[in-house]
Amino acid sequence: MVEEFAFDNTEERRRNRQNGVGWIEVIVGSMFSGKSEELIRRLKRAQIARQKVQVFKPIIDKRYSIEQIASHSGMTHVSKPVMTAKELMAQIETDTQVVGIDEGQFFDMEIISAVNDLADSGKRVIIAGLDQDYTGKPFEPMPQLLSIAEFITKTHAICVKCGETANYSQRTIESDSRVEVGASDKYEARCRKCFVPHSDKPTVHN
Ligand code: ADP
Ligand code: ZN
Repeated sequence: MVEEFAFDNTEERRRNRQNGVGWIEVIVGSMFSGKSEELIRRLKRAQIARQKVQVFKPIIDKRYSIEQIASHSGMTHVSKPVMTAKELMAQIETDTQVVGIDEGQFFDMEIISAVNDLADSGKRVIIAGLDQDYTGKPFEPMPQLLSIAEFITKTHAICVKCGETANYSQRTIESDSRVEVGASDKYEARCRKCFVPHSDKPTVHN
């Protein structure tokens, strides 16, 4: 039998629905494209409008489990680190109107139904994340979230090589792990022309 989520409460959903219609906003792009900035900007505006906001990010690395989301430009917002989509849902308070989620690509696939349920229950969900991994492949669960979202924003960085519009996160260190936490120490923004897909890289022989 499929385990029922604690949050899948039909009566609560019916009640919340009366409070308004929910929806999903997805913000995607490469690293340094301004996803976190855009997420934080929307969350701060919701707070100015006196809406109840809850913000989450996945725990991927203990060093990064501090209770805030941060942009590369220094903007911050308080957030709760969670391990799984289930843990996120367990922390949602009934009267929350806006749910913000950063680093969506590091969540398990249950985040898709979780986000859907939140929107069904009348909440505005804003989720930001990388749409491609360092090889240029779609980064699940972001593609699935894009397909169910009411609103999509694609952000772009500036290619560090040529100044064109950057859509790729070029890894600048040797690692084959899909998840390699880092910033400008490990990645740079590149355009289509300057991006070197991982498979094109010469093999390093020690
Ligand atoms: P993301 O969440 O998409 O990684 P952030 O919102 O954390 O992006 O950071 C965006 C900020 O990163 C920009 O406002 C800028 O200050 C900085 N930045 C650093 N490198 C670049 C780049 N190559 N192109 C654009 N912005 C960059
Ligand atoms: Zn370029």
